[in-house]
Amino acid sequence: MSDQPLNGAVALVTGASSGIGAATARRLAREGAAVALVARRRDRLDQVARDIAGLGGHAAAVEADITEPERAYEAVQETLERFGRLDILVNNAGIMLFNSALHTTVEEWDRMVSLNVTALLHITHAAVPHLIDAAATSPRQVADLVNVSSTAGRVARPGSSAYSLTKFGLNGFAESLRQELLRERVRVSVVEPGTMDTELVNRLGDATRKVARRQGDAIEALRAEDIADAIGYIVTRERRVAVNEMLVRAGDEIW
Ligand code: NDP
Repeated sequence: MSDQPLNGAVALVTGASSGIGAATARRLAREGAAVALVARRRDRLDQVARDIAGLGGHAAAVEADITEPERAYEAVQETLERFGRLDILVNNAGIMLFNSALHTTVEEWDRMVSLNVTALLHITHAAVPHLIDAAATSPRQVADLVNVSSTAGRVARPGSSAYSLTKFGLNGFAESLRQELLRERVRVSVVEPGTMDTELVNRLGDATRKVARRQGDAIEALRAEDIADAIGYIVTRERRVAVNEMLVRAGDEIW
């Protein structure tokens, strides 16, 4: 339908095979965007693409491990080849491995830095020229770069040291990019979810997963759709409006 706010726009969502990324892809498609779905699990991406097609939207699965620099670059290129432009990048793929510095392994720290920081840098670097081009040439006259950070990007707690490093760092990166790109009308934002009910916690080690589940069970956790709503709100504002930061906690969350 031509009155959808993102009609004609193209979005790339990293980590679109589950959780926040899948919900965001569905949300942006509902707003009229064609969506490139980037992650490693092909079957899950195909399912999200089918859901979107079933609702009359457009989506394409782009299977990629974006910690491989050439795949990060190719994911952007494949989006351009498939849909011809790039108006919205949602840097969402991320991993959270909570553990104390004493008990973690340096490999766990490396995995977080490799996805939450390095892969995000590579995708962003490949995408920025195309976002600038989209802002200059689209009817909306604006493009968006949304970064999914975390409350752990604002408040550090024991066990989250390296994860907080990646998310505090992301907030600084986004603020600098915001200032660099505002004249080009590429809006840069961070969304900072609190405690969520997604698959992220399943990826924790046994001990930390139990602690995280206890914390999560004590409150009503956020759903992926709650963060997709926040992202949908940011990218559908008129070009005169820039929502640069959204902190979305669960209602009962203290930290
Ligand atoms: P999920 O685990 O559901 O989503 C993570 C996504 O990242 C998956 O789609 C996964 O897909 C993808 N991914 C993982 N590794 C790679 C890779 N190497 N290359 C490409 N894609 C990859 O968790 P969430 O939806 O909760 O997490 C999304 C974001 O939200 C993350 O940045 C996280 O830090 C942030 N966040 C989460 C919170 C939470 O409590 N859940 C709280 C605050 C922020 P696949 O495995 O198919 O590759």
